[in-house]
Amino acid sequence: MSAKPVDTLIRGGTVLLPDGPHMVDLGLADGKVAGVYTPGTAPEAIAEIDATGLTVLPGIVDIHFHVRAPAYPERGSVQSESRACAAGGVTTFFEMPISKPCCSTPAELARRRDHFDENTFVDFALYAAAGDLTEASRDEMMALGAIAFKIFTTPAPAGREDEFEGLAFPDEADQLRALTLLAKTGRPLIVHAESASLLAHFEAIGKDLDPADGYTHGKLRPAVCESVAVAKLLAMNIMAQAKLHIAHVTSAETVAVLRGFAGTSDFTAETCPQYLFATEEDVVRVGVYAKVNPPIRTAADRDALWQAIADGVINYVTTDHAPFAKAEKQAAEGKFPTAPPGVPGIEFILPAMLDAAANGRFTLKKAHDLICANGAKRYGIYPMKGALLPGSAADIALVDLNATTTISADTLHTHAREVAHLYEGRKLRGKVVQTILAGNTVFLNGEISGKAGQGSFVTPTE
Ligand SMILES: [Zn+2]
Repeated sequence: MSAKPVDTLIRGGTVLLPDGPHMVDLGLADGKVAGVYTPGTAPEAIAEIDATGLTVLPGIVDIHFHVRAPAYPERGSVQSESRACAAGGVTTFFEMPISKPCCSTPAELARRRDHFDENTFVDFALYAAAGDLTEASRDEMMALGAIAFKIFTTPAPAGREDEFEGLAFPDEADQLRALTLLAKTGRPLIVHAESASLLAHFEAIGKDLDPADGYTHGKLRPAVCESVAVAKLLAMNIMAQAKLHIAHVTSAETVAVLRGFAGTSDFTAETCPQYLFATEEDVVRVGVYAKVNPPIRTAADRDALWQAIADGVINYVTTDHAPFAKAEKQAAEGKFPTAPPGVPGIEFILPAMLDAAANGRFTLKKAHDLICANGAKRYGIYPMKGALLPGSAADIALVDLNATTTISADTLHTHAREVAHLYEGRKLRGKVVQTILAGNTVFLNGEISGKAGQGSFVTPTE
């Protein structure tokens, strides 16, 4: 009891420590976790949070997020989407490099860093596109604090060349060059993997498919496009030995590929709630509002993804949050081939993972690892982020496992709430009650209490 007082004591809750849940109190001071105490042993506190009946976990680290700012403000801004993060218990988001122009140069990375820094309600990190594949550009973007690098194996979508300049590498030799360039830097290369030539093939033979049919999108981008692209990357990475991360795995076939290459290089893979909580029948029901790339697939694919999570073949669940303006999706109704791909999911991920734990899919510790700890470890920001240990950032989500989250446009904070039809009406067991960033409450009982610019730029610490 002689320890120096802390700023805030979170008392009476169940705290998810790295090894699982514990009935302990958590002291916060100077924006960090000051200590973890067995009840009755905590020092004096200036303020207290009564967490009785609540579960306390590290703020979510979402390693796959799109707002595209400062481009496309009509789809959502750093302010609107980082407020949605706060509401969803997400305290750090990793923004992807798709913007206008693409975030593939040091100048654009610096410009985006400053824009996000001024506007964000929670912490953020920035991916850089692999750019011109030179060591000079790579080193400069690393020095600026790029969390990691990204490429697509697909060509730039027609008319969006500037958004994908330095990001789209359909040629395998370029993919190998990118892997080689990033090897030994310690920074991951994350890849959106779909085979360019197979996509072109299925587009050619699918010309007469009904554009309004919900199954059309999956037929134009079948699982073989993904599994072949992933297999080639993993085969090339045996030579390159980069720290490779496969984005948004969607299919049983790709899970089989990941299993087959286990141990051949340092690779990891993620999937997203839209592939775990929806199937192509939902795409038929919801229409183009459920169009994402790669597509949402069959119940058998969904089940294979849950199994891959259980087996540790997939160790990350990310949102791939991608807001669109209502007018854009509306104008594309009935036109799957040309509709913009993406769904907003940042306020869905934490309740979704709590619901999965409540349903016995996995333990709360596993949920913590999938959305907090593993991403932070992979990207070199652990245990500053993704853990509640002495010295960790005081970034915290308090959740009520016995309450229900009902996904509704009326209560979502994302600017894209009016296109969030995929999950509309869905009930999940578990609810975000309070979100704390660096010791300060940014969300409480449905209301945002943080302010623009409160969040900080996160860079790798190792
Ligand atoms: Zn994405």
